[in-house]
Amino acid sequence: MKTLDNLIHIHDQPLLELIAQAHSIHSIYHNRQEIQVCSLISIKTGGCPEDCKYCAQSSRYQTSTSAQPMMSTQQVLLLAQTAVAQGATRVCLGAAWREIRENKQFDQVVQMVKSITDLGIEVCCTLGMVQPHQAERLKAAGLYAYNHNLDSSESFYKTIITTRSYQDRLKTLDIIEQAGITVCCGAILGMGETKLDRLQFLHTLSQRTNPPESIPINRLAAIPGTPLEKQPLLSIWEVIRMIATTRVIFPNAMVRLSAGRLEMTQEQHALCFLAGANSIFSCERLLTIANPSADSDTELFELLGLKRRPAFSKGNP
Ligand code: SF4
Repeated sequence: MKTLDNLIHIHDQPLLELIAQAHSIHSIYHNRQEIQVCSLISIKTGGCPEDCKYCAQSSRYQTSTSAQPMMSTQQVLLLAQTAVAQGATRVCLGAAWREIRENKQFDQVVQMVKSITDLGIEVCCTLGMVQPHQAERLKAAGLYAYNHNLDSSESFYKTIITTRSYQDRLKTLDIIEQAGITVCCGAILGMGETKLDRLQFLHTLSQRTNPPESIPINRLAAIPGTPLEKQPLLSIWEVIRMIATTRVIFPNAMVRLSAGRLEMTQEQHALCFLAGANSIFSCERLLTIANPSADSDTELFELLGLKRRPAFSKGNP
């Protein structure tokens, strides 16, 4: 088990040494030509009661995102089918909820999970906090993964979100795991946290009995109207360092290059992949944040000689 000092040592090596180490680990555990393409569908946008300072969907901030009604199962299925036709092998359904409630909307989500799982792809949900019986229902519907981000270190988290605690988050991760659903748990970089906060996030994940199957690494896109609207864009080198460190600590995990790709050049994408990222989200918007087009991702894959990773692939044996 790695200590925080071990993590600092890995993270702070000369950058090219770190990338080389991450790349060699990546090559052992994964097919380095394969990148998984995911699609994120916002099934219920805006009007969220939580106060996450980075989020356009919080009802506490004046942003250009307004509360929308929940999408119908047919609409969501159509979007999922289109995403699969464009090469996605994982579809994530996101709702701007604090927690799952026992109502018709949850019944509808369960139906969506069933229908999309039947397409033969991985389905992930991000619906806020979960009770054990709700997790079991999602699992029975075929849910493969549940996303619940820790975002940063426990101490920094308190400065970004006050309406729920880090411990609430960890408890939800336990419930998901106990239901036999794989855990997707990521970070947001560039909210004003320190290097140590980022490494404490990785350290917290590494202390869990089972490492997460999936770790999304997001670079903050500062959204007008949110308290973090003036936050400067984090250097790409910090993003690459974090991706490489994540790959070294979690050799088996899918490291997903998530929000913040629109500002990245093709060369920066290539460096992220070399550093061990092996998944992207390809959809017009990542919840409320603009994302590169499917065409530009196809061009990127052709340029770099990358292939789309199949669903349920476990990487190299
Ligand atoms: S990040 Fe999620 S929980 Fe937080 S305000 Fe946005 S939608 Fe709500």
